[in-house]
Amino acid sequence: MNADMSIVDLLAGVRARIAAAAKSCGRDPASVTLIAVSKTHGADKAALAIGAGQQDFGENRVQEAEGKWPVLKAAHPVRLHLIGPLQTNKARDAVALFDAIHTLDRPRLAEKLAAEMQAQNRAVSCFVQVNTGREEQKAGIDPKEADAFIAACRDQWRLPVVGLMCIPPVNEEPALHFAFLREIAKRNGLAQLSMGMSDDFEIAIALGATHIRVGSAIFGARAAPV
Ligand SMILES: *Cc1c(COP(=O)(O)O)cnc(C)c1O
Repeated sequence: MNADMSIVDLLAGVRARIAAAAKSCGRDPASVTLIAVSKTHGADKAALAIGAGQQDFGENRVQEAEGKWPVLKAAHPVRLHLIGPLQTNKARDAVALFDAIHTLDRPRLAEKLAAEMQAQNRAVSCFVQVNTGREEQKAGIDPKEADAFIAACRDQWRLPVVGLMCIPPVNEEPALHFAFLREIAKRNGLAQLSMGMSDDFEIAIALGATHIRVGSAIFGARAAPV
């Protein structure tokens, strides 16, 4: 099979699944933003997706994105989403390149992002990542601290917080985590939910996802875990 064709076909297939999932729960498919996760894949593959009308892309490393996206971004109206952990020493570069950051999860980072957005006169939409499974090794704010952290991000640091993001534990029912995230968002008056990946985005859509992050279902398997 022609590899170039397959990205276009796979993307069309994912879009059809999004439309079906949205319709089956009475949602407008346009209320779901598909973020094509191009991490580990080259600019050539991203360009094929752009050619097929894809506008939102996700990367999990600032440095990798800097090598891939500036030229494409200058030529096309794409939006870039940072979906991986962000170190404070990369905050400046992240604010300069990305249009949304889905991994805001600690005060030090909030402070740094606020300072950088001010310095660069640039507002980058932020999603607060919540560690809904309370996993030791996983990024994200503890659910118990989420309300206070969200309030501080808005009131103290004046960050443009638009929603919440989660990555459910691998061996647990994702629906429980998606519903939990939706509840935290609701009580904090946040409209957007970044949740759902290749294997569970239909469930996420049923539970209110506004942004789904889909990699392997569009670009194929990644060479190595990242
Ligand atoms: C890699 C990644 C995805 C995409 O995963 P797939 O299973 O390939 O769809 C989504 N979200 C985050 C945070 C990721 O790191």
